[in-house]
Parts: sequence; structure tokens; C-alpha cells
Amino acid sequence: MSEHPSETLHFSKNWQQQLAEAFTKIEDLCQYLHLSPNDLPVSVAASQGFPLRVPLSFAACMEKGNPQDPLLRQVLPIQDELDTYPGYSHDPVGDLASVAQAGILHKYQGRVLLINTGSCAINCRYCFRRNFPYADLQLGKQQEDAVIQTIRQDQSISEVILSGGDPLLLSDARIAKLLGQLSGISHLQRVRIHTRLPIVLPARITGGLLASLAVCTQQLIIVVHCNHANELNPRVGNACKQLKDSGITLFNQSVLLKGVNDNVAALCVLSEQLFSHGIIPYYLHLLDKATGTGHFEVSAADAVALIKQVQAFLPGYLTPKLVKEQAGALSKLTIM
Ligand SMILES: *Cc1c(COP(=O)(O)O)cnc(C)c1O
Ligand code: SF4
Repeated sequence: MSEHPSETLHFSKNWQQQLAEAFTKIEDLCQYLHLSPNDLPVSVAASQGFPLRVPLSFAACMEKGNPQDPLLRQVLPIQDELDTYPGYSHDPVGDLASVAQAGILHKYQGRVLLINTGSCAINCRYCFRRNFPYADLQLGKQQEDAVIQTIRQDQSISEVILSGGDPLLLSDARIAKLLGQLSGISHLQRVRIHTRLPIVLPARITGGLLASLAVCTQQLIIVVHCNHANELNPRVGNACKQLKDSGITLFNQSVLLKGVNDNVAALCVLSEQLFSHGIIPYYLHLLDKATGTGHFEVSAADAVALIKQVQAFLPGYLTPKLVKEQAGALSKLTIM
């Protein structure tokens, strides 16, 4: 990776500054990638309500001059988002019905998911969060005590999942406080963090964050979200190594996305590269049918055919489970 001096300067800044300097204008991103917006199916209308947002750290992994780049496709607002598809809705996985109290989703036995924040460092076009009122549901500082109380009183909860949005956007102090409160709950065995930051903003993994994570007395698991091997670079690798060296178990979840990773080679290389960074492939999700994302859909039949081929190339532990989320189901459904 050859770096422009301005990029070297950018990457020397702290994560908050890098986040503040993320691309939010289509023209700026296109200019950086040596592309002309006129040659792309970009849509300003699509970006209204769910704007472009991509850290330079992620954009730097894109191939310059390639309008089909699989990372660019994940973040560029395009006209296809305005098309309507049957069966697509604003709440495809029934999350609204599962909100037990402000900030908590309790869908599956033994696990509760906390919506710690509504924001992310990157806006992924395929995400169901694009339509979901997370900002209203997120856990405010005031509600955190009530949530801790709920978890303390429910002996059936053995795992808490910090999610969002992206929970690692919380400050080190707030993460340490939350993990400290959870540490006092004896029936809680595991704490899991769902985050895309080690991939899209690896500068977030600081000594301060590691110290905050070390407050956790339960087993700590981080599930990152990476869809394509090109998202992994030496900075990402270093961030993952630091997490790993702190004794944290690392898994990855991906979404199967048309035009991004819907081929055998891309999926195999992704699994192998993840594992070389100490990350175990966990889930490959079928797309949640959220309004505006239909152009990313890979059919269940095509997905099964793909994963069978992947399975024929890779050891079992490198083949992610192909799953889909269904409103009302007792778990994510394995499709095979
Ligand atoms: C996906 C999800 C979980 C975790 O499911 P696992 O199969 O344990 O990874 C928990 N709660 C909610 C609401 C979820 O969507
Ligand atoms: S990081 Fe995750 S939650 Fe955030 S926009 Fe991307 S897919 Fe959605």
C-alpha cells in the first residue's frame, strides 16, 4: 500500500479525529478514488436520510479507479436503493417487537442484546439500521442502571451482547463502567461485543480501550464484521493482534452481498485471511430484507450452492455458517 503524505498524517491522528475526517461527501470520495461521479450510478436522493459515511482507513483499501470495487459498493449511495422489491420492509427481522425495554433486545434464550449506541463509523448501504429508529431506542446513560438491574435479576441470562450501532464508539470510560457493572453479576458467563471498528477504524484499538476491556471478568468475545478480504490490511491486522493478545476470542460475521462477495473465491480468501489474523469465521448472513437493499440480494438457493462449494475447498472451521434471521424464530436459522 503506497500512502500519500496526507494519508500518513491522517493515520497518525487519534481515532476521534480520524472519525471526524471520514468521507461524508460523494464527490470527495470519488475524487480520492480517481472516479468521476458522472460515471457512477450515484444518487443524492438515496443518500438523504442515510448519508454516505466512510473512514479513510476503509476507503484506502479500495482500488483506485475501479467503479466496481467491492468495498466501494458497500458504502456508495446508488440509484438502485430507490427501487422497491416485494417482501422488503423497514423492520425485516422483527426487532421492534423484541424490544423488552429501552435499549434491550431479548430474542434468544440466555442472551440479551444491548443497543449501546445508534451510531456507526461507517454507513453500510445493505444495513437494516438504515431504516430503523435506533437513535430512539439506544441506551442512554440514564437507562443503563435499569438495564443492569434487569440483567442482574434474570438468572437465565448467561451472555450479554453489546451492540448498536457500534458499541466501540462509546468512550473508554463508559465501556469500562459498563463492563465493571456486568462483572458483578455472577450468573453472567460471557460478554460479547459486536463491532465493525477493528475493521473500518482500527485506530480505535488503543491501549486505553484494551485497559477498559480488561475490566471484564467474564469471557470476552468480539465479533467483527468483515465482508471481503480487501478490508483487511496491516493496520487492521495489528488491531486484531492486540485484541487477541489480550485474551479476547475473535469471530467474524459477514453478509452475503451481490457484487461484493457472492463468489467462491472471494469467500474462501476471506475465510483464510481472517484466520491468518486470528479471527474465526462465524456467520455468513443472508441479507435482511430492509427497504433500499434489494439490489444486494443473493437468493437462498444460490447462497446454499455457494457455501457448498466453499465447504469443498476449506476445512470445516473456516466455513462460516450460512444463516438467516427470521422474525419470531428461536435462533438464527441455519440454511443448508
Ligand atoms: C443475532 C442475535 C443474537 C446472537 O445470536 P447468536 O446466534 O448467539 O450469535 C442475540 N440477540 C439478538 C437480538 C440477535 O439479533
Ligand atoms: S457497521 Fe454494522 S450496524 Fe453499522 S451500518 Fe455497517 S452493518 Fe450496519
